[in-house]
Amino acid sequence: MSEQYDVIVIGGGPAGYPAAIRAAQLKLKVACIDEWRNADGSHAFGGTCLNAGCIPSKALLESTELLHRAQHEFALHGIKAGPVSVDLAAMQKRRAGIVKTMTGGILALFKAAGVVPIEGHGRLLGGNRVEVSGFDGSRRVLEAKDVVLASGSVPFRLPTVPHDGVRICDSWNALEFAETPKRLGIIGAGVIGLELGSVWRRLGSEVTMIEALDQFLPMADGAVSKEAMRHFKKLGLDVKLGARVQQASVAGDAVDVVYTTSAGEHRLQVDRLVVAVGRRPFTEGLVAPEAGIELDERGFVRVDEHCRTGVPHVYAVGDVVRGPMLAHKGKEEGVMVADLIAGRYGEVNYKVIPSVIYTAPEIAWVGQTEEQVKASGRAYKVGSFPFAASGRARAMEASAGFAKIIASTEDDEILGVHLIGPMAGELIAEAVLAMEYSASAEDLQRTIHAHPTLSEALHEAALAADKRAIDSINR
Ligand code: FAD
Ligand code: AMP
Repeated sequence: MSEQYDVIVIGGGPAGYPAAIRAAQLKLKVACIDEWRNADGSHAFGGTCLNAGCIPSKALLESTELLHRAQHEFALHGIKAGPVSVDLAAMQKRRAGIVKTMTGGILALFKAAGVVPIEGHGRLLGGNRVEVSGFDGSRRVLEAKDVVLASGSVPFRLPTVPHDGVRICDSWNALEFAETPKRLGIIGAGVIGLELGSVWRRLGSEVTMIEALDQFLPMADGAVSKEAMRHFKKLGLDVKLGARVQQASVAGDAVDVVYTTSAGEHRLQVDRLVVAVGRRPFTEGLVAPEAGIELDERGFVRVDEHCRTGVPHVYAVGDVVRGPMLAHKGKEEGVMVADLIAGRYGEVNYKVIPSVIYTAPEIAWVGQTEEQVKASGRAYKVGSFPFAASGRARAMEASAGFAKIIASTEDDEILGVHLIGPMAGELIAEAVLAMEYSASAEDLQRTIHAHPTLSEALHEAALAADKRAIDSINR
């Protein structure tokens, strides 16, 4: 007799583990299978996000932003700190410690909820049977009424840029460098590339970013991406747009990179090269052909808006399905499918998923950009408020950037909110909640915001949309 469960989740990242926990909360018998292996061979739940993504990157961003502030801002506050130096080993130890605590926390959550954790590779066979291959070579078959696929994603590799994990790296390698590279090249000026570039630039690397597109951060609002470029240049990031890497090769201790622009071919030599050109869904060995799971043309597991695959009782969530590759998107999908499996209501509002780039200044948005609203043909109004006019931002020495709100002229519905400035990733939550409740700009205008806070910027931007701003000049 094989082991029986109500729900088996394959993948223990931020999409899979919440699915397992919610299903267990709903009194279902749940197992979560995960095969993550760290460089030292140890296993940890939490997937990319906790082990090699969101959490370690934020740990290093925080440490290096503190360094930057100590170097450049303390004196402005009248603080004399003497020469500031870096102990990279200690910084990396802190990063690793945070990851260990957070991944260990998932096991504690599983224990409390009653989820059975299983280390190893899961493969969906036909008839909702799941084969588990343990790290010790053992094999067993489990059965479940419902199966959730949450196998996540892995970095894209470029065939002409051969990865060796030392000189030519991916984002995971780049989070664990033991030395600051003197010259760092990054292919791709997307979210991950910019966050890693900021970390190593602040630690002293000369950073060159090579981006194939002509437009910088095309998914962000145009005004935000323009403002962001200004600040990244000031930090010293050399972002080359319209530049496509053709090939790279290791030459002794360095990496030779060949890229092309409209002006022709260029060469660049760096000490380390990070390939940050996006991620692809990971489905290797995930499903046997007899399971009948369909992939789309880009390799994502095909699902409907409720994350149902075409096979009854099999769901897929997170980076392995369409939609933005974001931890919080995967989490909500995981919770939704667990609720649906338990016979409850479940829905994800795909129109209201916030995006955050944890650089300095921080960037965050939700809803449509001004360019998208314009293209939709809907009549709209815009209100902006500069953090330079915020007393709290001034007190924080963080007055760069602005809050921008776009609302419908016809019915005042908030269509998009775009922030670049201090704590933008935290401030965006208010906009997300407002849009989730279909708030109007007037609703925000009439909501009392504590003074002096950064959140007043959003309040003032809402007022500015109707030329009623109090703390800035209405244009
Ligand atoms: P994953 O986190 O990839 O987890 C999948 C898990 O399933 C892994 O542990 C994998 O080993 C396991 N697995 C796969 N196949 C099998 C199998 N057959 N059997 C058993 N186990 C299997 N997102 C944000 O929202 N905010 C951020 O700040 C952010 N920062 C990032 C920074 C970096 C450097 C990177 C690389 C990513 C970042 N992301 C961020 C993206 C985020 O990490 C992903 O969107 C998220 O991890 C996706 O979750 P997931 O559960 O779908 O997949
Ligand atoms: P993201 O998907 O946000 O992680 O960003 C990845 C970025 O890498 C995108 O902006 C791509 O345009 C860029 N990119 C992909 N391939 C190349 C290449 N060969 N050279 C330079 N940039 C690239």
